Amino acid sequence: MARFTGNRLLVATHNAGKLEEMVELLAPFGIEVVGAKAMNLPEPEETGTTFVENARIKAHAAAKATGLPALSDDSGIEVDCLDGAPGVYTADWAETPSGRDFVMAMEKTWAACDAVSAPLPRTGRFRSTLVLAFPDGSDEVFEGRAEGQLVWPMRGTQGHGYDPMFQPDGESRTFAEMSHEEKNRISHRADAFRKFVKGCFE
Ligand code: IMP
Repeated sequence: MARFTGNRLLVATHNAGKLEEMVELLAPFGIEVVGAKAMNLPEPEETGTTFVENARIKAHAAAKATGLPALSDDSGIEVDCLDGAPGVYTADWAETPSGRDFVMAMEKTWAACDAVSAPLPRTGRFRSTLVLAFPDGSDEVFEGRAEGQLVWPMRGTQGHGYDPMFQPDGESRTFAEMSHEEKNRISHRADAFRKFVKGCFE
């Protein structure tokens, strides 16, 4: 496992919600975190069909462009009664001609469960794949998940994306009803992060 020894890490995401979570998760390590937008990096096209393929595309493009180690996250929600959809297409389900609309995406997801008459609980999980890419072309991969169920109507105003409709196992609140600190203790990204920290810092 390649250890992270520098003091600057590029977080290869243009998603403000994800960047904020990554900055919070990285705060204890005293490394300078730079976002892709701040470096004027273009957003590469995510042409992969798996989380790891897309995470590799983003991390390697950013490491190559900047000469810095780059950490990317590719994530999404898998719903069991939809055979794992939207999965890698989670962000795509929110696309509209005028940008991403996550309320619409959540309505679409619940309606798709209704369309197959799925009983409650409508189980699923968030998955996060982190890739740490080095400028020499090597990389390390870390995978995390948070099991839970979809709920309707959506609840809560914190977080981002599909948080208002996802209630993790063992909780009566959705991710969007939790503080950032609470979500960061149990989220899929936190799970992947623990593996990243264990592998690259400890
Ligand atoms: P991508 O990894 O940029 O392709 O996008 C993943 C999509 O999954 C995001 O746009 C969000 O909609 C969703 N997503 C990933 N992680 C979370 C999360 O922690 N909460 C809510 N939605 C998430």
